[in-house]
Amino acid sequence: MKLYKTTSKIKGPSIAIVGAVHGDEPIGIEAIKYLRKNIDLKKGSITFIIAHPEGVKSKTRHIHQDLNRSFPGKKSGNQEQQLAYHIRKIISKCDYVLDIHGTSSKLDRLLITTDFNKNKKRLLSCSAISKVALIRKNKFGKGSLIGASKCGVSLEYGPDKSTRRYKIVARDIEEILGNLEMLKNQRKRHRNKELYIVKDVLKTPKPFHQYKFKEFQKIKKNTPLGKNGKSVIFSSISFYPLFVSAGRYDETFSLVTDKKNIKL
Ligand SMILES: [Zn+2]
Repeated sequence: MKLYKTTSKIKGPSIAIVGAVHGDEPIGIEAIKYLRKNIDLKKGSITFIIAHPEGVKSKTRHIHQDLNRSFPGKKSGNQEQQLAYHIRKIISKCDYVLDIHGTSSKLDRLLITTDFNKNKKRLLSCSAISKVALIRKNKFGKGSLIGASKCGVSLEYGPDKSTRRYKIVARDIEEILGNLEMLKNQRKRHRNKELYIVKDVLKTPKPFHQYKFKEFQKIKKNTPLGKNGKSVIFSSISFYPLFVSAGRYDETFSLVTDKKNIKL
């Protein structure tokens, strides 16, 4: 893990900005580089964390296990368990945590949260990103980095496994910092959100040729989803898909979500 800290003379919120929890997602590293160079902090402190430099070096998601499923971690475990242990010590002291990810899914920009309390709603309203996925800890958010923080969200960008869109990431983070009054410029909150509540994961038989579907676009009950050999598989439910996989994970079609338009 690599750490860089920036502190303002004026007291204010402490925030951790984390990149490369997954070693094959360098977008967070570039965004952090850019932010470290360009941010003019008015209040509080920022701790920048490159979470998994070994994974980055070998361009792999993880070495032993998914770091984003390894929290709270172990002092003497495998590499990711130890990383989680040390990262948790740092982020648990911060008021806020932003965790940057890139994905091959075509979801543009998405906020992910593991809970939905008052503090979290406030942090979400600081972001210009309108789509929010609620992935509860007891569902699929188990062992996640943001789940080990006081008040953290993930920022997911895709499709981008490169560094192509790092300036968009940096701009989104500046907007959050501005709304937390940590920067000089005044901002305004973004209270209208599309909330996608993750209920389940949709499994498919093997082999499976999946038809094309768009992220967040409603799939109605009885829609043909794809083919298992010669037989067509239909959806037994109506839902909004998230992380439409096309074989990213074996036997997984997508996460199954309910959609609600909300005002924070
Ligand atoms: Zn990731």
